[in-house]
Amino acid sequence: MTRRKATRRMIPHQLRHRSRENAQESGAGGDRILHLCLIRSYDIRYFDMMYERAMSDVVIIGAGCAGLSCAFHLAKTRPDVKITILEANVTPGGDAWLGGQPMTPMVVSKLAYRLLTELDVPFEVEGNFVVVKHAALFTSTILSKVLRMPNVVMFNATTVEDLMVHGDRITGVVTNWTPVAQNRDSQSCMGPNVITAPVTVSATGHDGQIGAFCAKRLVSAGLREQPEGMHRLDMNKAESMIIRGTCEVAPGLIIAGW
Ligand SMILES: Cc1cc2nc3c(=O)[nH]c(=O)nc-3n(C[C@H](O)[C@H](O)[C@H](O)COP(=O)(O)OP(=O)(O)OC[C@H]3O[C@@H](n4cnc5c(N)ncnc54)[C@H](O)[C@@H]3O)c2cc1C
Repeated sequence: MTRRKATRRMIPHQLRHRSRENAQESGAGGDRILHLCLIRSYDIRYFDMMYERAMSDVVIIGAGCAGLSCAFHLAKTRPDVKITILEANVTPGGDAWLGGQPMTPMVVSKLAYRLLTELDVPFEVEGNFVVVKHAALFTSTILSKVLRMPNVVMFNATTVEDLMVHGDRITGVVTNWTPVAQNRDSQSCMGPNVITAPVTVSATGHDGQIGAFCAKRLVSAGLREQPEGMHRLDMNKAESMIIRGTCEVAPGLIIAGW
């Protein structure tokens, strides 16, 4: 019996037994017992998942539309691959919950029609663009499809703080719970976790912390030259540059829009 099966089968029985004991001891402590059972139900699954995913096949950093689209395609075409998504925010989905400014319709390149059709998200074609009536329709649909895939696991509220580099390969990521990562001044004693994977995909949107440390690690390992960084807004160039710049930037590390 695998460790996973053993855990799943044994724990409910233990919990039921413990609950009966506690109920007899504490009389009116029903709420406390219920709370305990509830917490254990997610603790067990969460830590079991962390244990299992400590060695993943693919780590995707960021659950915005780039990370979710990558997970969707990969999970569908390679059901044998263990895909682990790490999202710093509590809410996955990145910036794609609204269209331009606070307006709801999402306007994307016409090429997106293939993905939208596959996801069964309705859209209108307008010249070179397609328009989805609400950005959240796309994001919630892809999110729910990705999370249903048996080979995908997502840890949200989990920040990638660094890359693991061995020789000339990126071999995984260094992570921490986001509240810890955000409060390094007061939480310095909290050591990070690591997840190893032969392939890491960085899909963290506009360059920021992760772009900066990817660049730093790759430059210091002699794997890349210092990138230019973010340019001024120029949609005509940016759209195609993002597609052209999505590649394996160093062995084991793919960046969406380097
Ligand atoms: C209000 C608004 C409206 C927009 N409207 C449109 C539109 O109509 N059409 C259009 O084409 N574009 C639009 N954009 C731009 C579009 O949202 C972005 O281009 C798109 O979201 C980029 O997707 P992405 O997956 O690359 O990055 P994001 O959506 O930014 O997702 C990146 C994810 O990575 C996570 N992340 C970052 N760092 C870490 C880390 N260290 N560890 C773990 N996770 C991390 C972030 O929390 C985030 O969830 C809009 C943007 C905004 C803000």
